[in-house]
Amino acid sequence: MMKIAVIGTGYVGLVSGVCLASKMHSVTCFDINENTINQLKDEICHIHENGLQEVLSQAKFNIHFEYLNEHTENMLMDFDAVMVAVGTPTVNGSADLSQIESVALMMGRLIKNSNKYISIIIKSTVIPGTTDTYFRNILEQESGKKLGDFGLGMNPEFLREGCAVEDFLYPDRIVLGYEDSKTLEVLERIYKPWDCDKLKLNTRSAEMMKYVNNSLLATLISTVNEYSNIARKIGGINFDKVMKGVHLDNRWTPINKNGKKIIPKIIDYLKPGCGYGGSCFPKDVMAISALAEDVGVPARILSSVIEVNDKQPEVILDILENEVDRLKDKNILMLGLAFKPDTDDVRESVSLKLMKLLDNKGVRKILAHDPIAISNAKKVIEPSAKVDYVNDWQSIVPDTDIIIISTNWIHYKDLSNMSEILLGKVILDARSLLNKSVFPNSKYITVN
Ligand code: NAD
Repeated sequence: MMKIAVIGTGYVGLVSGVCLASKMHSVTCFDINENTINQLKDEICHIHENGLQEVLSQAKFNIHFEYLNEHTENMLMDFDAVMVAVGTPTVNGSADLSQIESVALMMGRLIKNSNKYISIIIKSTVIPGTTDTYFRNILEQESGKKLGDFGLGMNPEFLREGCAVEDFLYPDRIVLGYEDSKTLEVLERIYKPWDCDKLKLNTRSAEMMKYVNNSLLATLISTVNEYSNIARKIGGINFDKVMKGVHLDNRWTPINKNGKKIIPKIIDYLKPGCGYGGSCFPKDVMAISALAEDVGVPARILSSVIEVNDKQPEVILDILENEVDRLKDKNILMLGLAFKPDTDDVRESVSLKLMKLLDNKGVRKILAHDPIAISNAKKVIEPSAKVDYVNDWQSIVPDTDIIIISTNWIHYKDLSNMSEILLGKVILDARSLLNKSVFPNSKYITVN
């Protein structure tokens, strides 16, 4: 059992803290957001993640929550390890390390006044060189001590929102980045209960791995969207079938000894759609691209990946405009606001970008629904007289002209049972959730 502090209780920090506590570690999660901490103290998760509330209840005797301020920060030196899971947004195209910097300054002050060795392990996604240079320099300057008096690690997180708890508890790999051998021992003890591939490497390589992982997936998404956009302009191409044939290449879909096809998850990234969104891919691709420019390697592929992705909401609108006489005066039902199903996270959600474009086109009304993300959407969408939020989307369907499925929540499969009400209406299934054959009397459009 290790005593672990987690700094930052967002999607990564809270899921990590709760799951580490479920493995019998003693965990305290710290955050500068007092509201968040108060809710967590009442055992209420401030974010939605499948299973999180349940694991929190089960692990409640091993986990505590603390509002981080100048009165409580001293507590941090009582732990074997401090894991840092604060945000690392991309601002003006480059990684913004200000949250990481404030943690480094605080930890430097604490280390200065203590003789205890402590390992600080960064879990946030940070550009290569952050841990071993940027973070280390601040710690050494602030504390007047050297690496070895304290330890440094980098343990990138690969969880996916929506299934974050499952991903954390059953990971495909755990990456143990370290700058000193004591920190490697600490990481090995923290992750002892997990039985999966564990990669040991320096912190810079760990940092790079996370970016290559995300950027490569984003590259697949933009590449397939580009092929789909080309095929649509050529005309007469069934792109669904094109991709089906590509997927069957046994380098994508291997066939086992019994002749059975193994459909890997990567196939999901090889389908045309809305482009990538969310709190990671957009900012991570931009950050590594900016770093590439800084080190004198123009990131030509990544620039194109970003450009294709930025344009994809407009492509979707074009597809719609080609099928509808006038968008003006139309009532639109927008199904889904979260960037993907099973999360309440709307960061870089394609749905919100589409809503903005539709609003600019002068549509009459946008009625927006999401099972759990409406309150987060309201915080970021500029108020508009055209946008209303609805809870009971089924009852709105008769009054709308166009229905857009922008997040593939399973709930929206109910549309398949409403084909009579949908008579004459346009359905833009931007996530290819449904089946065209179910809507013989509607205009059913997909992105491919
Ligand atoms: P988030 O915005 O949900 O949470 C960050 C939390 O840190 C917030 O609660 C904020 O109040 C807190 N915070 C900020 N400054 C602080 C400080 N000085 N001290 C204490 N708390 C502070 O972010 P997130 O989505 O959990 O992402 C965190 C990091 O993990 C990012 O680097 C992100 O790129 C990476 N990551 C995210 C995901 C994901 O799916 N969300 C997956 C893998 C990696």
